[in-house]
This record gives sequence, C-alpha cells and structure tokens, in this order.
Amino acid sequence: MSRPAIDLFQNAFGTIPRSAASAPGRVNLIGEHTDYNGGPVLPIAIAERTTAVVGPGPADAPGTLEAVSTRYNAVARVRWQEELPPGWPAYVAGVLRELWTLEAIPPRGSLRIAVASDVPIGAGLSSSAALSVATAKAIATFVGAKLTPRQIAGVAFRAEHDHVGVRCGVMDQTIASLGKSGHALLLECASLEARQIPFAARLLLVDTGVKHDLSAGSLNERRAECEEVVKRLKLELPDLVWLASWPVEWLPRLKRALPEPLRSRAVHVVSETARARFAAQLLAGKKLTQFGRLLYESHESCRRLYECSAPELDTVVAAAKRAGALGARLTGAGWGGAAIVLVKERGAGSAERVAEAIRAAFREAYGREPEIRPVKSSAGVRTERV
Ligand code: ADP
Ligand code: MG
Repeated sequence: MSRPAIDLFQNAFGTIPRSAASAPGRVNLIGEHTDYNGGPVLPIAIAERTTAVVGPGPADAPGTLEAVSTRYNAVARVRWQEELPPGWPAYVAGVLRELWTLEAIPPRGSLRIAVASDVPIGAGLSSSAALSVATAKAIATFVGAKLTPRQIAGVAFRAEHDHVGVRCGVMDQTIASLGKSGHALLLECASLEARQIPFAARLLLVDTGVKHDLSAGSLNERRAECEEVVKRLKLELPDLVWLASWPVEWLPRLKRALPEPLRSRAVHVVSETARARFAAQLLAGKKLTQFGRLLYESHESCRRLYECSAPELDTVVAAAKRAGALGARLTGAGWGGAAIVLVKERGAGSAERVAEAIRAAFREAYGREPEIRPVKSSAGVRTERV
C-alpha cells in the first residue's frame, strides 16, 4: 500500500521515510446539504486511499517543508510558518500549523513528505480530506504525538477550512478518520456526535463525468438561501441556530412563513434531516428495501426542492429504478458528479443488470457511457509500514 509513496520519497530526497499513514476517500449515503445546516450525514469510507510518508527535513534549514506527490511533478519547498504555499502543499502546511498549535511539533521543525493516492481528485470522493487526514496521521506518528482519531480529524478540518480556505463541513475529515470497514457513520454535524452503523449492502458509484465547479456559485447561493431562511424563521422560533433543528412536525408552519424558493430549500433540509436519521435506523435494523426507498426520496427532494440535480444524474436514478435497484440518488452536493445505486445480491436489480441498464439509458441520452464501479465500506485512517 505504501510502496509508491516510499519509492517517491526515496527518489525525491535520497533517504528513507520514517513513518507512513493512509486515509480513505468517502461516499455519502444520505443527508445531502444537511451538513452546513447542522443536520446528520451518513457517509462510508471507501477502498481508495491516499498514503503519506514522512521523514526529517534538511538539517541546515529549520522550519522547512519539502513535499512531493505522484500527482504533481515538482518538489515544493516552503517555510511553512511564514508562507502558505500555492496549490496542494498548502494542505500539508495547514496540518503542520495546526499540529504546532497543539504543541505536537516544535516551532522550527523541518519535514519531508511524499504522497501517493488512488482517490481521484475532484470526483466528489473527497481526495482533499484523504490527503489532509493521512498527512496529519503520518506526521503525528513521526513526532510521536498521540492524537485520537477525533483530534486527527480536527487538525485536518482546520487545515483545510482555516488555512487552505475551503468552506467545507466536518463530514469529509471525520469519516476519513473514524471510518470503519463494514460500517457507515451517522454523524450529527451540529453536536459532532457519531455512531457506527453496520453496512454490508452492495453499492455502485456512477460517475456521470459532468464536472461541477462548486465555486461557480450554486453551492454558495444555496448556503446564502439557508442563512436567509434561518433569519426569517428566527421570528417564529428565536432560539433557532441551525435550520436542521426546525421540528419536522412544524413543516406547515415553516411553509406559511417562507416565500419560494426559500420554502422549497427549507423543506428539503428539514425533511432530509428526518430522512437521514430514519435511514440510519433502517440500516441498523437491516431493512434495506425501506432504506433504498429513502434514497430515491432523497434524490427527488434534491431534484425538485433543492434543485441541485442534473439531467445526467436523473437519467442514472430513473434507469436504476426501472431496472429494479433498491435505491439510488445523487451524492456529493450535486449539479453533476456522481450517483450511488443500492443493488440487490442477485437477479433483477443485481449489480450487473442495473449497471447494464444505466449504461444503455445513458448511451441513448448522451451518446457515451458513465464510469461505474462497486464501492465497499472500508477502514478510516491507519498507520502503514515503512
Ligand atoms: P475533492 O472532492 O476531491 O476533495 P477538492 O477540490 O476538495 O476535491 O480537493 C482537491 C485538491 O486536494 C487538489 O486540487 C489538491 O490540491 C489536493 N489533493 C488531493 N489529492 C492529492 C494528492 N494525491 N496529491 C496532492 N494533492 C492532492
Ligand atoms: Mg474536498
């Protein structure tokens, strides 16, 4: 697992690394656009991982970070306390700064790091959290700092959010850190309460190949709409902080209080919150058929109310449903990207038959085929051998 990163380290720096760690990408089963509204999400860690290997930096240059990745050619060399480097080394510098804040590393520490990964970048599988979590763990191991998985997730989150400057929620780093093979994680994004839920179902990931540039504004627009909703609902319920805490029994009152499109956005968030919690219960009770139905409902809510789907995603979900899949929905914000499909073990609705049906429908509509692969719930961050 860590071989490519170790080889890269030796080629780039001419020495051997001292510690290694890897962290997974993720797929969110249900709970879409609930994270930044203080609601629940239900992600799994996937088999694709990023590995980081670490060793001491040049002795004659205190406070220096040298970083190299199989994804980018050049070795970056930066003074991590003084400057935030452009591009991907900023994630590593952010992790270093956070570890320094925790007094886990000395102020003028020097470090070398090499990274290798099979998590695709920008495909909605959270390659950035796989990178920051693996990096945090590898560095903590190298310096002998004993951090809990929660602390690793916190360091990685603040590196990405506060230093790199991405307006992300806590889901990606938390699942990359706390993920457990054969389980999904019910994470309440307001309280950070987390619960492992057994998950053994067969799941496909269908990448539509439609790129969504979130900075292009759709996500920011939705976030602004949700903030406006909370401002207005505070007149009804002054204590309301998170939109997701609006009681689902009070949907009629919410509808009366809001004009469109705020009403639709709010109904999605409040009902998706209830759906995600119920989905976790169903999963815990092994009620896969009912769980699957909630995936379809979630997609419909994303499409009609939150308006974050795309025609290609709707094609995939409709084809999956016709072919007898248990459930399907867009995953990872939407407006393009990927869908998940919950399939049966065999017969109609099995992985093979559903994948074929999706390929045919997609070919018919767009003249090309989407990439389809099985996803398995895997382990979160771990140290690797060097
Ligand atoms: P994603 O949905 O994949 O997390 P982001 O835009 O959040 O997409 O993060 C992608 C960024 O993370 C890349 O542009 C790069 O800066 C960094 N990154 C991810 N994986 C790697 C890697 N293996 N090596 C170097 N940088 C990486
Ligand atoms: Mg990311």
